[in-house]
Amino acid sequence: MSSEKIFLNDELVEKEEAKVSVFDHGFLYGDGIFEGIRAYNGRVFRFEEHLTRLYESAKAIKLDIPLDRAEMKEAVLETIRANELEDAYIRLVVSRGVGDLGLDPQKCDEPTVLIIASDIELYPEDFYENGLEVATVATRRNIPEALNPRIKSLNYLNNILAKIEANQAGVLEAIMLNNEGYVAECTGDNIFIIKDDKLITPPTYVGALKGIKRGVVLEVAPEFGLEVSEEVFTRHDLYTADECFLTGTAAEVIPVVTIDDRQIGSGEPGGYTKQLIEKFRDLANNTGTPIYE
Ligand code: PMP
Repeated sequence: MSSEKIFLNDELVEKEEAKVSVFDHGFLYGDGIFEGIRAYNGRVFRFEEHLTRLYESAKAIKLDIPLDRAEMKEAVLETIRANELEDAYIRLVVSRGVGDLGLDPQKCDEPTVLIIASDIELYPEDFYENGLEVATVATRRNIPEALNPRIKSLNYLNNILAKIEANQAGVLEAIMLNNEGYVAECTGDNIFIIKDDKLITPPTYVGALKGIKRGVVLEVAPEFGLEVSEEVFTRHDLYTADECFLTGTAAEVIPVVTIDDRQIGSGEPGGYTKQLIEKFRDLANNTGTPIYE
């Protein structure tokens, strides 16, 4: 069974009944926030971090989530249980709710909350073994002073424009730079490079989401003898890196072997990257919040 029952506002409803108004500002204006969460082996991975980011995004856009954190946690678990899932991709959305045709959020009385717990569509194992080809694109990441990429908002048009460029270039993911030309992140993933045993990822102020999987990698990397650093870097640093990989809830840790037609390192997933993939899988499969206890 998968995503047959959807949590909508304060109850579980059948998929066919899970409908949202065309006047919902999430639909009309992209006014809202979301989380993408994974469950492995009957446990929700890094659940608390996802909840923290959700409530922080809500605070940033002055959205009052009608469920408190404990209620939200229970609602997510209840939705996974109702769909009898052990492994799941969970999409949690809170929009500004129904308003009029103007954009003023004050006109929206009650936020819409929905939770979908679905089977996951995994990336083919081939990508983990052989790596991805990616490209930098012309579309710059939103500047934090306009729409801070740390807010996991429903407004993904910036990323979608970059994805269209990636599609045109015939690669699976786009690397977005910020307005000054520093590497920011990908359309749905954070980015890391390794050079001379040093692991580097852009600081979030460059214009990147504080990814939960990014946090996991920063936490475990020193175990493998890597020095860890959050610092700005450019396309030149990408091209000349020893290794490169992306992190995200859907992709987990995925190696990059070519950027803009430049081979990275040996052109195969790097040694550190392979160790980090294994470590990540071990943590994902063996830690987390139990769903059925
Ligand atoms: N950046 C963007 C733009 C994202 O949408 C995501 C999540 N899909 C990430 C980075 C990775 O974050 P996380 O590890 O929390 O999934």
